[in-house]
Amino acid sequence: MNTDLFSIRMRAANADGHLCGAEQLVPVEQLPGLIVRMAKRAQNHSRGNPETIRISIDAVPAATVHLAQLPDITTVVVADVASGRAAARAELLRAGVSALAADRAIAIVANGAAPGGQAMRGAMLVDADSGERLESDPARGVRVSRMDMSATAADLLGQLLKGSGRDTVHLREALVLAGKVLLAPGIVAELCWSDDPDYTAGYVTSKARGYVRFPHLKERGSSLGGRAFFVRPGTDRAALSAFLQRQPILFEAIGCLHPDEAYCP
Ligand code: AMP
Repeated sequence: MNTDLFSIRMRAANADGHLCGAEQLVPVEQLPGLIVRMAKRAQNHSRGNPETIRISIDAVPAATVHLAQLPDITTVVVADVASGRAAARAELLRAGVSALAADRAIAIVANGAAPGGQAMRGAMLVDADSGERLESDPARGVRVSRMDMSATAADLLGQLLKGSGRDTVHLREALVLAGKVLLAPGIVAELCWSDDPDYTAGYVTSKARGYVRFPHLKERGSSLGGRAFFVRPGTDRAALSAFLQRQPILFEAIGCLHPDEAYCP
């Protein structure tokens, strides 16, 4: 990388709590347009009207940016939420998460992981063996930022997913976030489904299988969603949080698209 980038983060909230957030890593010339798009996104969110919108911008020196490849994408077709959650649980177990930890995390996300049964602003850290929650603030959790995909990677992904119904902002942002989480020290797997009432899909990621997407992990209309990052017991939480929050990662290549391997780099 020889061009400095800027990390841009948006967070919107109202009296009910967290509404939405977004983070990107872009060259300076994209900042003005992105500030406007992020503000509009905060104002038009299906979870409600924001009372505060915070947009923060930080310079990221080119020399600190790690270049990487996005995880492979597999879609597992499931008929409904019950079969989606059963398939996601099986995927977590396959990644090395204990049944206890998988069941606990699924139940916590389903019931609202923040105090009072709300959606969290960030992700839970979950011990992959005991299922114990490790994040120091259960309302905020850990929020991953300073990651994005390059324009070239985004164009290629867009072309390959065109017409599949999967070429969405949700998928792109989730893939980038999940890709960064997989690179973090101590991570075993991630579980996510959106808190956006209109978006029912979710995923499990692991190093061995990449990003495994399930079209139904929650009922349409529900605003309860969240993320769990499963960590190996004994993981240095300070180092993990520092990586997730501060290490800039730019994905400049995409992975394979399964099941048909329509594309493999
Ligand atoms: P979303 O996929 O944007 O609907 O987010 C679903 C849930 O994932 C949110 O309720 C948060 O708990 C969590 N989340 C969203 N963005 C991040 C992030 N950047 N880092 C960690 N957790 C996040």
